[in-house]
Amino acid sequence: SDVLTLSDVTKTYNLGTPAAVEVLRGVDLSIARGEVVALVAPSGAGKSTLLHIAGLLDTPDSGQVLLNGRDMTGLGDRARTTARRAELGFVYQFHHLLPEFSAAENIILPQLANGVGQRAAAARAADLLGRVGLSHRADHRPAELSGGEQQRVAFCRALANQPALLLADEPTGNLDPETSDKVFEVLMALVRETGLSALIATHNHQLAARMDRVIGLGG
Ligand code: ADP
Ligand code: ADP
Repeated sequence: SDVLTLSDVTKTYNLGTPAAVEVLRGVDLSIARGEVVALVAPSGAGKSTLLHIAGLLDTPDSGQVLLNGRDMTGLGDRARTTARRAELGFVYQFHHLLPEFSAAENIILPQLANGVGQRAAAARAADLLGRVGLSHRADHRPAELSGGEQQRVAFCRALANQPALLLADEPTGNLDPETSDKVFEVLMALVRETGLSALIATHNHQLAARMDRVIGLGG
């Protein structure tokens, strides 16, 4: 069964005004359980818009968004927020870690917010940090970590609540090419080990070629 299905999704910014910009027209996309899909398109093609719609952060003008077979299109803000917290993980180009908390705490806090107990949350954070090779950095704050390490912690945070789908927007785009390749390896290993499905936007065709399927936008 599919984790995510977009059917005939349309999005225009400033709809009905002279400034209207049609970004998505009739987009169809399905992601199967355990599948890792690369989204490769030029800047401005609508990758972030598509990720925002898939991530229930924005709504399409028309078309359908199904998450685990459930129609998200008609849901109100609260129900969408609940579904987002329970089923989706996000990674961005910048890590967005909380600067005053340690690496482990950054992975623990979203679990506490989701109703997980302190002890189980700490155990999961330790397990995730181990998987990305950062057990020795658990008590460090983000400013004490390298760019690649910060991004690896952000991956752990995205997976903290065991989402069904990971949405990533240029997850290694801020790193130098060598670090980017290494950190991307870590992300792919983490996704494969946990059987996670993922939609990953990237400009990097070499990284995209290592995923299960590559899709484009526009044209
Ligand atoms: P990408 O992620 O592929 O670079 P985006 O989804 O960010 O593309 O943007 C696609 C197009 O939509 C661009 O032309 C951008 O300027 C426009 N756009 C994005 N967000 C908005 C917005 N909030 N209001 C108006 N136009 C927007
Ligand atoms: P990289 O070469 O991987 O970008 P850096 O040269 O930035 O890494 O850092 C090397 C090591 O030093 C990393 O393991 C990082 O955690 C640690 N480190 C970097 N900056 C600080 C800091 N401000 N305080 C403590 N440790 C740091």
